[in-house]
Amino acid sequence: MSTINDNSTSQSWIERGNKHVATTYGRYPLVAVKGEGCWLWDADGKKYLDFLAGVAVNNLGHCHPKVVKALQQQAETLIHCSNFYHIPSQIELAELICNHSFGDRVFFCNSGVEANEAALKLARKYSSDNFNVDRYEVITALASFHGRSYAGISATGQDGIRKGFGPVVPGFVYVPFGEVEAIKNAITPETCAIMLEPVQGEGGIHVAPTGYLQAVRELCDEHKILLIFDEVQVGCGRTGKLFAHQHDNVAPDIMTLAKALAGGPPIGAMVATEKVSASFGPGTHGSTFGGNPLMATTAVAALRTLLDDGVLDNCVAMGDYLRSKLEQLSTRYPFAGEVRGRGLILGLQLGIPGADIVKQALQQGLLINCTAGNVLRFVPPLIVSRDEIDQAMEILELLFKEG
Ligand SMILES: *Cc1c(COP(=O)(O)O)cnc(C)c1O
Repeated sequence: MSTINDNSTSQSWIERGNKHVATTYGRYPLVAVKGEGCWLWDADGKKYLDFLAGVAVNNLGHCHPKVVKALQQQAETLIHCSNFYHIPSQIELAELICNHSFGDRVFFCNSGVEANEAALKLARKYSSDNFNVDRYEVITALASFHGRSYAGISATGQDGIRKGFGPVVPGFVYVPFGEVEAIKNAITPETCAIMLEPVQGEGGIHVAPTGYLQAVRELCDEHKILLIFDEVQVGCGRTGKLFAHQHDNVAPDIMTLAKALAGGPPIGAMVATEKVSASFGPGTHGSTFGGNPLMATTAVAALRTLLDDGVLDNCVAMGDYLRSKLEQLSTRYPFAGEVRGRGLILGLQLGIPGADIVKQALQQGLLINCTAGNVLRFVPPLIVSRDEIDQAMEILELLFKEG
C-alpha cells in the first residue's frame, strides 16, 4: 500500500526505492505523498512550499478541485478508447487550443518529447512533400532542451545529453540562442525547420531577446522554412500569456505543448497550421494513448480554469512580485546576480553552484531547483499568493544570510 494512511516512514520508502527503481534520477530525500495548492506533504507528515510544481506541470497547484472532478467523472464514464473512433473531449480540447492560438489542427500524445517527436516528423514530412527529400535539417539552439527520445536528444543543444547514446538522429545544427546572425549563417538549402523555446527553461531561464523571434520568423518566410516553438515548459500560462510566443507578436507553424496542459496528469499536444498539418494524413503518425478521454477531459477542465478563473492575471501580478523580491535579494548578496524570466518562470543567476542551496531549502521546507549548474529556478503554481511568496523568500533569505 502506498497511501497517506500507510505509516511507512520516508526513510523506509527511500530504502525500498533504492533497490528496484531505475537510477536515472538523482533524487532528493523527499517522499511525496499528498499535495494541495502550493503545498506538498512527505511520508513523515512534513509540509513543503512547492515552488517547483512538478517542473512547471502543476500550474493550477496540486489537486485543483476542477481537475480532480474532471478526472473522477471521466474515470467513471470512459477511460480509454482507440483513436480509430471520434472522442468528444479530444475534439473539445482541439477546438479550445485552436480558438486561443495560431493553430488549426492538434495531434495529441502523452508527453513533451512525443510532441516534439511529432513536430520534427511533421516538419520533415512537409518538406519532403513540398520540396525534395534531402531537405531535412533542423536548426536548434545551444542550451536548449527538447526531451529524451532519440529525436529529442538529437535536437537538444547540449552535448552531455547525447554522450554514450550515439549514433543519434542526423540532421541537427545548433546555434547560440538569441543571435539572429547565427541562424542566418546556419541556413542552407537542406534546412527544413528552426525549433526554439521562446524562453529556455532547462538551459538557465533565458528569454528570447526583443525582436529575435520576429526576425527568425522573417528568415523562415524568406527561405520557406518551418518555425517550431517548443512551449512544453513555458506554454499553458506560465509566462502570463496562454502561450509564451504571444508576448512577441509572432506565430510559429508548429507549437508543442505538454507539462501543464492537463493540470497535472500526462498529456502532450502538437499544434500546427492547416497548411502544414496536411502532411500528416491518415496512417502517417499515431499514438495509442494520445488524446484519450481521461486526459482530454481533464485538459479541457484545466485549460478552461486557466482562461476563466483569473489565473493568468494572478501569474502576471505574482510574477512581478516574486521578481521584485528576488531582485531585492540579489542586491543584498554578492553571490546573487541577475534575475531572468517572464511571468512565473524566474531564474536567479548565482556566482556559486546552486545545488547546496536547493538541498538546504528542501530541509527548510521550500522546493526549488537549479538549472545550468548555478541558476535557481522558481516555477511555483500560477495560483500562488503573496503570502506564499513571502514565506518562500523568508526561507531563501535565511539560507543566503548563512551563506
Ligand atoms: C520538459 C520538456 C520537454 C520534455 O517533456 P517530457 O514530457 O519530459 O518528455 C521538452 N521540451 C521542453 C522545453 C521541456 O521543458
